[in-house]
Amino acid sequence: MIPLERKLLDRVDQVSMRHIAEKQIAHFLPVETSSHTADELLHELRVHQIELEMQNDELRRTQLALEESRDRFVDLFEFAPIGYLTLDSNGLINEINLSGAAMLGVERGKLIHRPFVLFVAGEDRSAWYQHFMRAKQQSVKQHCELALKRNDGSVCYAQMDSRRFESGISAVCVALSDITERKRLETEIQERRNEMVELHTLHVAAQTVSAIAHELNQPLLSIATYSEAARMLMEVDNPDLNKIRKAITGCERQAQRAGQSIRDMLEFLSIQEFTSEPFDLIQEIVGVLELAKLEHELQFDSVFCTEEGSIQVVASRSHLQKVLLNLLHNGVEAMQEAGVLCPVITLSVSANREEGVARVSIQDNGSGIKPEDLLRLFAPFFTTKGKGIGMGLAISRSLIEENGGRLWADPQAGSGATFHLTLPLAS
Ligand code: ADP
Repeated sequence: MIPLERKLLDRVDQVSMRHIAEKQIAHFLPVETSSHTADELLHELRVHQIELEMQNDELRRTQLALEESRDRFVDLFEFAPIGYLTLDSNGLINEINLSGAAMLGVERGKLIHRPFVLFVAGEDRSAWYQHFMRAKQQSVKQHCELALKRNDGSVCYAQMDSRRFESGISAVCVALSDITERKRLETEIQERRNEMVELHTLHVAAQTVSAIAHELNQPLLSIATYSEAARMLMEVDNPDLNKIRKAITGCERQAQRAGQSIRDMLEFLSIQEFTSEPFDLIQEIVGVLELAKLEHELQFDSVFCTEEGSIQVVASRSHLQKVLLNLLHNGVEAMQEAGVLCPVITLSVSANREEGVARVSIQDNGSGIKPEDLLRLFAPFFTTKGKGIGMGLAISRSLIEENGGRLWADPQAGSGATFHLTLPLAS
């Protein structure tokens, strides 16, 4: 029961009405103490008349209050900032407020009994059918965003909040919010992002070309110098075969270096398809450490810390090998550059089964990373080495991320540099 009705019933309480009426009549017409029936009847009638007048006044006041409240609700419904409509079970419009009709760009009267789907843009119609079916069948509110085609052909975007509405012939009621401006901003942001990506790609391409030119120039010059030396050595009467061999070996090395640089850059620019497989991380690290020691003329000591017997991860073995070799190589170079007497690389491996990741930390006791370099360390072409290309860490991070892990540097972990990487554990 609405409060107004309650109020009305309270007010027309018969006993109190009669009481008030009797008081009023006593005021205007004092009752004779004689017991004449005609007088009593007259008195009764007057009391009733006053009672009725009071009830009438009360009803009029209540009617006015109801009309005011109805006008307020009509105002609220018709001019609400969102469109509101009800649909029958076939999706025909039963009722629609003025805001909804304005959104569709059609006079309200012409919308009644028309299928709402006529106003849904072609590409979004199947999304609308699914949304409508869900709203009809489920008791919870359904939400979707659609493109609507107005009568004049223009397109606006609407957020639809629909729910089941079993009242009369209506099956679903829909609240329509105009989100055209938000969509326009989203598209604009996406376009700016695409432009940024394009610019970034162009920038990377330009840097790649200049890096390739820089990388190839050096070995090509060396190859030309070695070749010239070899030719001159061969032109003398008793050619020194050892010197010629050295010159040719020099050519070979420079050609290999040039080839490797190009391969590295191509790998960074397009990471090819790879296969992940479960394997034991500890065994793999031991193997890579041996390989690194064979490769490096500078010997280094290694400390391997782990509390686990075996840690099964899922990743590409060859990607992990490349990353570990690159990190070890960088560590050895940093220790060499710092002139460290006892170069040591400490490797720690652990498994965090709650988070489902294995973690490898590689710490050297070399020159360490300057705080100002930390932010650009993984950026392509960042290098502090005379002959470096600055692609190693960028490629390593891409490879680890492709395998579902992370790679980062930790400046605070003691002297030297520490790099950490994670990989997903095999379930
Ligand atoms: P490059 O080795 O060709 O320079 P990287 O991408 O592998 O390319 O490394 C980028 C830069 O990061 C290096 O030039 C160096 O300044 C820094 N760096 C990498 N590893 C270490 C390390 N272990 N210790 C100190 N600095 C490092």
